[in-house]
Amino acid sequence: MPDSVPLRSALASATSDGIIYDLTGIVQRHDDLLRELPGARVRFAVKACPVDDVLSALGGAGAGFDAAGPYEIAQALRTGVPVERVHYGNTVKSDRDIAEAYRMGVRLFATDSIADVRAIAAHAPGSRVFSRLAVSGSGALWRLTGKFGCSPDEAVEVLDTARSLGLVPAGLSLHVGSQQMTVAAWRNAFDVVAAALAGLVARGIDLDHVNLGGGLPALGYLDRSGRPLRPPLDLILTAIRDGMARLRTVARGPLGFVIEPGRHLVADHGAIRSHVVRLTGRQGRDGRRERWLYLSCGRFNGLYELDQIQYRLEFPGHADGHRVPAVVAGPTCDSDDAFDPGSPVLVPSGLRSGDPVWILSAGAYAVSYTTVGFNGFAPLPYHTVGALPRMAPC
Ligand SMILES: *Cc1c(COP(=O)(O)O)cnc(C)c1O
Repeated sequence: MPDSVPLRSALASATSDGIIYDLTGIVQRHDDLLRELPGARVRFAVKACPVDDVLSALGGAGAGFDAAGPYEIAQALRTGVPVERVHYGNTVKSDRDIAEAYRMGVRLFATDSIADVRAIAAHAPGSRVFSRLAVSGSGALWRLTGKFGCSPDEAVEVLDTARSLGLVPAGLSLHVGSQQMTVAAWRNAFDVVAAALAGLVARGIDLDHVNLGGGLPALGYLDRSGRPLRPPLDLILTAIRDGMARLRTVARGPLGFVIEPGRHLVADHGAIRSHVVRLTGRQGRDGRRERWLYLSCGRFNGLYELDQIQYRLEFPGHADGHRVPAVVAGPTCDSDDAFDPGSPVLVPSGLRSGDPVWILSAGAYAVSYTTVGFNGFAPLPYHTVGALPRMAPC
């Protein structure tokens, strides 16, 4: 698992809680992805890690950004990337937000409805648009379905309307669901894109790119019962390369590709230094005695995604000690703020309040989902290790 030496030594020297990101590891994962998908441009999904240094490192490595609104656009532009490398990837946007993005120089917008296309035509005239397609999301830990996307037929109507309103129909997009665990989901998604692309070709609309969205997995998660998840990354990347080749044969002209990784680039290169609040024993639900390990952070400050996964934990200084099963939970008065109570974790029996606990592969979405003071527990501060690269050319 890519828990790098710089990350581990930063964890070891931390004396208070925080999230630490390894910039070198993040940039390496970006470069690996470019090597695996020749011809694709990376647009990092800002919401997966809205940390200035992380965005600057990725921008410096040549990535652009998928931003969900003016606030994320501004943060992306602070890295110094040219605005051509930033798109407005949210299909949900107000007139004011469209106008603001246009004023900031953004000229590429996601859409999935005629109403939204009309708004873009009015407030961002002449811009390029791509239509988001709905796909099932099955096989993903977080499916992201229902709220976005149109059918292939609707996408043809939406992009045709865009053309008639003076916009440039530029692309199609999709999202297979976050932490997508199956190859089949990618194959099915390419079927949907191919159908839409064929419909567009028949209507005389030539696109310049397909945006393959996010969904590429983190490698270091455990499932809800504590077993390693092991996503089939190599098979997924092969399916994506095959799909890209297939779409190139459907399109009439040259077709570019964009990919919007979020989790895949940052999850395994971010880790949390937390501490033990207390290891206790108390009467459990069925009357038996249960041990609970309360940590200083949980769902509301760093570990939001406990609904689907467990994180790997390390207890420095207790490597060889006697271990006991305990339910792991966060510090708040919310009972959902816990690992699955049916799947206790083996923890050192000698843990004392204040002992450090490392939470690994916790770099994705942690900063975005952290609440500002739910129940009075502060968000975790964040730090980075590793050097920022110089800005690479597009
Ligand atoms: C959140 C999001 C992503 C990133 O998703 P991951 O599953 O983290 O890779 C990419 N594109 C869009 C449009 C998103 O909303």
